[in-house]
Amino acid sequence: MTSSCDIAVIGAGVLGLSVAADLRARGRDVLLIDPGGANASSVAAGMIAPAMESLLDPWEADPAGRAAELRAARDLWPGFAERHGIALIRDGVDWIGPDADGVIARLAAMGFAAGRTEAGVFCPEDWRIDPVAALAALGRGAERLGGRVVAVRPQGEGWRLTLAAGAGISARAVVLASGTTFPDLPEAVTRVVDQVHAIGGRLAFTSRRLVERPARFAGGYAVPLGEGTVIGATMEAGGLLSDAAALQDKLLEHARQALGLAEIGPVEWRMGVRGATRDGLPLTGEVMPGLHLALAPRRNGWLMGPQVAAQTVAGIEGRHTC
Ligand SMILES: Cc1cc2nc3c(=O)[nH]c(=O)nc-3n(C[C@H](O)[C@H](O)[C@H](O)COP(=O)(O)OP(=O)(O)OC[C@H]3O[C@@H](n4cnc5c(N)ncnc54)[C@H](O)[C@@H]3O)c2cc1C
Repeated sequence: MTSSCDIAVIGAGVLGLSVAADLRARGRDVLLIDPGGANASSVAAGMIAPAMESLLDPWEADPAGRAAELRAARDLWPGFAERHGIALIRDGVDWIGPDADGVIARLAAMGFAAGRTEAGVFCPEDWRIDPVAALAALGRGAERLGGRVVAVRPQGEGWRLTLAAGAGISARAVVLASGTTFPDLPEAVTRVVDQVHAIGGRLAFTSRRLVERPARFAGGYAVPLGEGTVIGATMEAGGLLSDAAALQDKLLEHARQALGLAEIGPVEWRMGVRGATRDGLPLTGEVMPGLHLALAPRRNGWLMGPQVAAQTVAGIEGRHTC
């Protein structure tokens, strides 16, 4: 059986849902296709964190330039959140650790405001969302099809998608937002998506409220989530390690020390795989006529979601962004 739609979005993580939500807000007919279940977007801590990401994971070639890019991506969030009914929590972030003056100076050099606290530094420039609630808000009212796309092929002026269950879908345009796994694609597209590499990540959820706002420290972070706290996150090159016990212990020990706790107590481990490119920025754009990429935002999928959506929608509508 073959059905048809105007725009098919493959993948319902933050990137696919953000693109679909912005397209729908502009009156476009969109079909989201995803097999369902947890993904990197749903397990993430939900930080919208240009300041701390620029400080702790700097792009060595041009730290100030990258900081400006991340800040510009963050600045799209207030309008995006309002448009799609997402609660944007602007409670800033604490740095708990040594060298407060050095941290403040480095943040200032990248254009971020920050001030001293008893434990270190407070920076009001990083925000956050609750990832599961935000995914629900972005997907509200969207037309969805549960299933895995196994092949994407040109067909006339558009595209034909084949699902694992055998059904076919014709679409005028396709957005590939499938994280780190891909259907069978035309060779020209495969050559481009081959540069996406996987970085596994896991974080610990505790039902204890350990911090009242996000805290960063050497080797990790703690972020309020629901009634509890997430402590993250590992960076596992190539994908999730089969045995990450040592990394998990180290992460919890960093958090225990930074937060001055006798023990963290029982935790539930949550994991996902981030897609990344060599330059650390998302892979977007139209690779073949009508086939658009929304992939590989590394550690910053939530931060970059509105920007990837804006660029992808502009590409589909034939507009250029800068
Ligand atoms: C532990 C951890 C903590 C993180 N914390 C943060 C944070 O605080 N802030 C931040 O900005 N980022 C954070 N990130 C990064 C962020 O989560 C990712 O960059 C982002 O979720 C990637 O989104 P995505 O839409 O590209 O991929 P995903 O969320 O992986 O979604 C891809 C979707 O595509 C679907 N799919 C795959 N193949 C197919 C197919 N063939 N057919 C149909 N569907 C398919 C999958 O089922 C999945 O639902 C974190 C990541 C991890 C792992």
